[in-house]
Amino acid sequence: MIERARVLDAGDPLAHFRERFHVPDGVIYLDGNSLGCLPRATPDRMAEVMRKEWGEALIRSWNSAGWIDLPQRVGGKIAPLIGAQPHEVIVADSVSVNLFKLISAALMMRPGRKVVLSEPGNFPTDIYMIEGLEKQGLAERRLVPREQLVDALDGDVALLLLTHAHYKTGQLFDMARLTQAAHEAGALVLWDLSHSGGALPVDLNSCDADFAVGCGYKYFNGGPGAPAYAFVAERHQDDIHQPLSGWMGHAQPFAFSDHYEPAPGVDRLLCGTPGILALAALEVGVALIAEIGVERLHAKSQALSEFFRQCLAEAGVALDLVSPADPAARGSQLSFRHPEAYAICQALIARGVIGDFREPDILRFGFAPAYLRFEDMAEAARHVSDVIDAGEWQRAEFRERAAVT
Ligand SMILES: *Cc1c(COP(=O)(O)O)cnc(C)c1O
Repeated sequence: MIERARVLDAGDPLAHFRERFHVPDGVIYLDGNSLGCLPRATPDRMAEVMRKEWGEALIRSWNSAGWIDLPQRVGGKIAPLIGAQPHEVIVADSVSVNLFKLISAALMMRPGRKVVLSEPGNFPTDIYMIEGLEKQGLAERRLVPREQLVDALDGDVALLLLTHAHYKTGQLFDMARLTQAAHEAGALVLWDLSHSGGALPVDLNSCDADFAVGCGYKYFNGGPGAPAYAFVAERHQDDIHQPLSGWMGHAQPFAFSDHYEPAPGVDRLLCGTPGILALAALEVGVALIAEIGVERLHAKSQALSEFFRQCLAEAGVALDLVSPADPAARGSQLSFRHPEAYAICQALIARGVIGDFREPDILRFGFAPAYLRFEDMAEAARHVSDVIDAGEWQRAEFRERAAVT
């Protein structure tokens, strides 16, 4: 397979983009869906922001270096990648905090309705944020298996909150169909794009989506804990009230008024002072992903994951695929079920093949197409085969649980 991989790499129009990232020697990184690799341009940009903009220009940089507009500027660069207009996206806070703002805003737009509908097994923070609002008496959580979601859209549902590409299985929702079904029931829709933004084309506006949130540190390579982005459809922008009415979301923050007046448009989603260092790092990652283009990235990720499956099959590896077999029905990942998934994952990491484990028995491989080669697929499959066939995972050191998996 390695020869075939080399042929595929030689014909890969995105191959040269690998040099734009720092991929450590001896590592096959299949976890770019959890923490994206470092773009090579980021450290220099960070040094510039720190030494010149902060160190020398100090507070003047809010204007002279455009710090004050950075949340909108980076949001505007993400917008075309998710089918939004530039003024519909802003970068702020974490995904969790943006979920809180937008779930609250949606509930206020549907007085008399309290139910926030989602699926069991959605990413935990999405569910927990609903529960937090439930404790305050503002929301009612309803979790229904995905096949039954449409039927569960009754007159009590204010908001349908779903993750476009499931974090464990990569399974995609039909965004257009579910958005339409929710609207027909009088509900709003909030899409979590954490596992799709920057990896596959998303078209929020053609689906008529109301709200979306997404992650900066996965496929956008913004660095650990990078700020998140939030989308509000233009038609809702002047109607939404978000409860974290901090001064940076005020119409005139520097008027220092005693009364909160929300800024026009998506700017009202800001709460406190944005983290400029983190935003500057994210901007580099977003610009690079935009330069490559999500259509090309998606095509390559499908080719990589299919090739990986072929390599596993060729090596006779018996792993139970839990992601959809059809690449069009999944995000940029493949997940497999194995009772010893944790130990297998640790044994692979010891060999430099970094994937991840998800409770209770999922071995997850992410294919961040901007910096992975077909050769990596062939090599990774060989390591998986070696680890499983030789029973290497049985070693005690691979069975001890670490704090962060
Ligand atoms: C990674 C991820 C998040 C992350 O939320 P943070 O608050 O930024 O930590 C949220 N939702 C989904 C679906 C994710 O995959």
